Amino acid sequence: MKKPEKPDTDFMLTRRGFIAASAGAALFMGLGGINAFAGTNRKPPFSLIALPYDGNALEPYISSKTISFHYDKHHRGYVNKTNTLIKGTEYEEMTLKDIIMATADKQGQEEEIFNNAAQIFNHDFYWMSMRPNGGGQPPEMLMQRIEDSFGSFESCTETFKEAAMDQFGSGYAWLVENGDSLEIVNTDNAKTPMTENMNPLITIDVWEHAYYLDYQNRRVDHVDDFVEHLVNWEFAAENLKNS
Ligand code: MN
Repeated sequence: MKKPEKPDTDFMLTRRGFIAASAGAALFMGLGGINAFAGTNRKPPFSLIALPYDGNALEPYISSKTISFHYDKHHRGYVNKTNTLIKGTEYEEMTLKDIIMATADKQGQEEEIFNNAAQIFNHDFYWMSMRPNGGGQPPEMLMQRIEDSFGSFESCTETFKEAAMDQFGSGYAWLVENGDSLEIVNTDNAKTPMTENMNPLITIDVWEHAYYLDYQNRRVDHVDDFVEHLVNWEFAAENLKNS
């Protein structure tokens, strides 16, 4: 397995999420702590973020071989392609979030920039959405919000699993905060809830590259394992903005 490049010099990863370490970088304090969205305020040229765990830490549910392709080939590819596409354009001066927002629902070159830049964010967020020995129950504050919106935790996870299964072709399923309520949504290809003014809490990547080496066509087993053994509810709770 090829060694990952050195991580962003202006980012450190901690157990609680990304901390922008450079002096001028904005920090967003959510109710639960440091908000991972600080990661969308970084400017080009973009670097591949450091994985928040070792490449074999999610085994047996996601193999180091899958991580080596998904993180070190696909995710890195989106980072490099974005840097190439925006070179010499107005986007070179913008934050990752502003690039994504400005190129959403456009065509031609803008669409290509969106597809790559949004995939940087989607994958940053996906890696953070998992942890070794994940699953279990959400922290109390998040559990209360889940019960308010879905009636029960089981109803929430079942709806999330159905969304991940119903996504036709490439895309993601997300637990999002939409105003006061929590919702489950799907996005196609590189699309992201950020452009719909929704606040993402958790995502699962259901592009085939995310699970095919380990599960082949058995997406349902992968989705079950994600919810039972991988999902990082503490990260979801840290992303909550509204009380
Ligand atoms: Mn992916």
